[in-house]
Amino acid sequence: GYRSRAAYKLKQLDELENVLSRGDTVVDLGAAPGGWLEVAAEAVGPDGQVIGVDLQRIKDIEDHDTIETIRGDMTEERTRDRVIDAAGGEVDAVLSDMAPNMSGEYSLDQARSLHLARQAFETALELLDTDGDFVVKIFEGPDVDEFRADVEEEFQYVRATSPKASRDESSELYFIGKGRLTASVRPGD
Ligand code: SAM
Repeated sequence: GYRSRAAYKLKQLDELENVLSRGDTVVDLGAAPGGWLEVAAEAVGPDGQVIGVDLQRIKDIEDHDTIETIRGDMTEERTRDRVIDAAGGEVDAVLSDMAPNMSGEYSLDQARSLHLARQAFETALELLDTDGDFVVKIFEGPDVDEFRADVEEEFQYVRATSPKASRDESSELYFIGKGRLTASVRPGD
């Protein structure tokens, strides 16, 4: 079994759009407790690399020595710089299952979720190789269509889906950006 039920969502997303392949380098944002890391490590195999980031400490995943974890806040530039250093080059997939601490006030939680999704998108644009894929969780609400349109400009296409494993969490959906259109250009490259 996996250390989180969320693992099955990534399995479904990957079955739908094939975002994880042998040998890939994958960055997973909001990775604790680590279910997605386990699924990604299985998919990329021993020649792949998986980097997980979270505010929370991620307990070591002993079966997979391809996983590296970073504890930090993805809204801070220094955390994003650590992720870029750890990747050591362009990556094949950026995944984000980041979610805010729920206040219970939907409009606030939704706005925070969109802010995290936009941070993940910025990170994806910094890291992803041409043809790379992006998976991001968002909560339904205002500005989501605008966010989707922004993602669509950077990828061949975007698919929106609500995996069966998350249907009880009604307002949650994922965008899958397939095939980044241009190579990342970073200062200093
Ligand atoms: N995909 C994970 C798994 O399979 O185990 C579950 C992720 S959980 C739904 C969402 C995570 O996002 C939480 O662990 C939370 O700490 C993290 N998170 C929220 N805001 C964050 C931020 N600013 N930077 C990094 N991680 C963040």
